[in-house]
Amino acid sequence: MTQDELFKVLVAHCKEYGFIFPSSEIYDGLSAVYDYGQMGVELKNNIKSYWWQAMTRLNENIVGIDSCVFMHPKTWVASGHVAAFNDPLIDNKDSKKRYRADVLIEEYLGKIEEKMNKEVEKGRKRFGESFDEEKFRETNPNILREKAKYDEVHNRYVAAEEANDLKEYKQIILDCNIVDPISGTANWTDVRQFNLMFSTQISNTGADDDKIYLRPETAQGIFINYLNVQKTGRMKVPFGIAQIGKAFRNEIVARQFIFRMREFEQMEMEFFCRPGTEMEWFEKWKENRMKWHKSLGMGDENYRFHDHEKLAHYANAATDIEFKFPFGFKELEGIHSRTDFDLGNHQKLSGRKIQYFEPETEESYVPYCVETSIGVDRMFLAVLSHSYKVEEVGNGETRVVLSIPAPIAPVKVAVLPLVRKDGLPELAQKVIDEIKYDFTYQYDEKDAIGRRYRRQDAIGTPFCVTVDYDSLRDSTVTVRDRDTMAQERVPISELRSLIDSKVNLANLLRKL
Ligand code: ATP
Repeated sequence: MTQDELFKVLVAHCKEYGFIFPSSEIYDGLSAVYDYGQMGVELKNNIKSYWWQAMTRLNENIVGIDSCVFMHPKTWVASGHVAAFNDPLIDNKDSKKRYRADVLIEEYLGKIEEKMNKEVEKGRKRFGESFDEEKFRETNPNILREKAKYDEVHNRYVAAEEANDLKEYKQIILDCNIVDPISGTANWTDVRQFNLMFSTQISNTGADDDKIYLRPETAQGIFINYLNVQKTGRMKVPFGIAQIGKAFRNEIVARQFIFRMREFEQMEMEFFCRPGTEMEWFEKWKENRMKWHKSLGMGDENYRFHDHEKLAHYANAATDIEFKFPFGFKELEGIHSRTDFDLGNHQKLSGRKIQYFEPETEESYVPYCVETSIGVDRMFLAVLSHSYKVEEVGNGETRVVLSIPAPIAPVKVAVLPLVRKDGLPELAQKVIDEIKYDFTYQYDEKDAIGRRYRRQDAIGTPFCVTVDYDSLRDSTVTVRDRDTMAQERVPISELRSLIDSKVNLANLLRKL
């Protein structure tokens, strides 16, 4: 299966098994808006819980808040979003499709990079052991030609970005002969700026100053509450404030399932520190967040850092943690050193003194801030795309299994009476009574046992517990492991601790 096909199959699987539904499907859906179903909500809550506990329980100096989607409109003036939260958009006149001009150019550059990498791989095969990649890149004529092309376009692109030169964006697209993948033509409109914030009105007078925004990031809810939390929580710098909540962006290109949505959820933590110490904290949080990701066991090779060359208006350092999605390495989380930009601007615009008095040095200052920001939905997609597997199970048969890390699996245990009679359902109920306070479970008595196992594999249930005739005699059950399909006989009285040892979130937290 190609990665493209895998992605399509995954989207279909998410719908078939109640993970994700297109929003308002009975009205043919709403673009880039998705709802989480009965399985999806459990997985999503578990991801959030893992993040929340890692932040607020494992760090004594991090506390959480839950601020509102609506904030005073001046918030977004102070944060720079009213003036600068724009994407350059371009339309193809033939396909009538809309694209981000910067993304079209970046994809073009990505293709050149891919060509160079392929050339390197060819060289590696040809020269075997003695292959020197650095030298090869410096001397191979094909690579040198591509590299010159890359540098020329890249330099123009960076300059255009810095100068916010929309005409130059279009010129680059035309000069590189970048065509619309749908119409195949270069019949482009001019490039325009497009603000990504959704707005609405708070009362019915319709006056302009009624306009408020749906927050495009949760972070500002933290900044405007900085003083409240610092004072009431008697927090000492350095300390952090964590928040999970909805964010809204009117994304221009939203065609990658839950990777880019117009309504999504973020898990953000703003860590306030003394000016001058921010780089140290930036490095610590990079390491800390990478550890959190890798603890899930989804393959260390599937993560990488990508440092930003061009920094956002508020940052003095920034990196992304990228994950290998079916469509390539893409941003999963951002880590930014935001300086005192946000608190400083809120101080200016609100007229309130937003400062920290450090008792040891008797100094007052606006704290600097390091942010970690991850999309819940992107994390969900990372987990599902990594977990989805089609496996041969002998006799030409296959099974579809979601090998979701057990502590965040939506259903932890399935309880299955072998037959629907002779007291087995009643005993199964007793087993449920034993485990229901600790684990999410499903009861299933329909169809042959093999088919029931397959249904559980398809939603990623780590354990299936089968109650059979021997169970009536000796109070033991068969426990089947999702990943190995191995079965073992276990006394009902030991079931809880066996399952707990594999699915308890604390097991993951202990790795951090
Ligand atoms: P991108 O470059 O992909 O648009 P970004 O750099 O604008 O992302 P940030 O503003 O740094 O993203 O947001 C932090 C995190 O929020 C991202 O790493 C991502 O996980 C998530 N996120 C951002 N935009 C979306 C979206 N439209 N849909 C889902 N998740 C998103």
